[in-house]
Amino acid sequence: MSQLLAGKHAVVLGVLNKWSIAYAIASAFTREGASLFLTYQNEKQKQTVEEFGSELKAAAVIQCDVTKQEDIARLTGELRNAAPVIDAVVHSIAFANKEDLSRPYLETSRDGYLLAQEVSAYSLVSVARALAPLMAKGGSITTLTYLGSSRVLPNYNVMGVAKAALEASVRYLAHDLGPSNIRVNAISAGPIKTASARGIKDFSKILDGVAATAPLRRNTDPAEVADTAVFLASDLGRGVTGNVVFVDAGFQIMGIGGTAL
Ligand code: NAP
Repeated sequence: MSQLLAGKHAVVLGVLNKWSIAYAIASAFTREGASLFLTYQNEKQKQTVEEFGSELKAAAVIQCDVTKQEDIARLTGELRNAAPVIDAVVHSIAFANKEDLSRPYLETSRDGYLLAQEVSAYSLVSVARALAPLMAKGGSITTLTYLGSSRVLPNYNVMGVAKAALEASVRYLAHDLGPSNIRVNAISAGPIKTASARGIKDFSKILDGVAATAPLRRNTDPAEVADTAVFLASDLGRGVTGNVVFVDAGFQIMGIGGTAL
């Protein structure tokens, strides 16, 4: 079969380690022939992400803390110099204070609320605004979300509220960027054991509950999320925008049992 992303230039933000959903996506993009750009937040992750960059034959690995406007501007400049156009952007970034993911949502501090919103939701807006001008031939922007945006899932708390803002941002950005033929979508992944997920209290209970309840009776494999990201970034996804696509073994359709988790 021919490669679905041959000739496309793709930026993937959010690779931290081999367990990151962004790593699975970056690997699938390489498999499908994309020319890849990876980012890392700061010096601490530089070496690891550069190693992933050489493994995945990335065109460049660029530092970008999405809370810093100057970093986003530098990323944009480096991409403009390195690629004729950008065709696909994957935003796989989120952060909340650990204590806000283990106590009642009622206790969320103003600072904790604003931090989660800034890193996990507003960053999609600032990245899209900066990179859309490089997407001269149109393209695809994809972010990662979770069911906690619309259902109450114990301990997801402030991150659920940030994901609600993220999903609403997907719809508004899809409307703004549609005339430029830039599509904006979210993938709502089932729970996956990653560094971020480990910050959520009792996360392993969520994994067990989903495996017992989901229609497919198992958890989500990051490779399944990655293949959906390939579809959205490819020409096969050309009619899809403003959507939240669930890749969760079907868990989100469940009522009793589902919402209790
Ligand atoms: P992960 O490997 O920990 O990835 C999260 C990434 O966000 C890390 O690379 C992290 O980098 C980055 N990040 C945080 N603050 C940043 C900042 N200021 N600037 C730049 N990067 C920053 O965990 P993951 O589970 O793959 O998460 C990826 C996305 O999938 C997130 O949006 C998450 O909410 C979503 N998601 C995860 C699950 C799940 O169960 N795992 C389910 C549905 C959706 P640093 O560590 O260097 O800060």
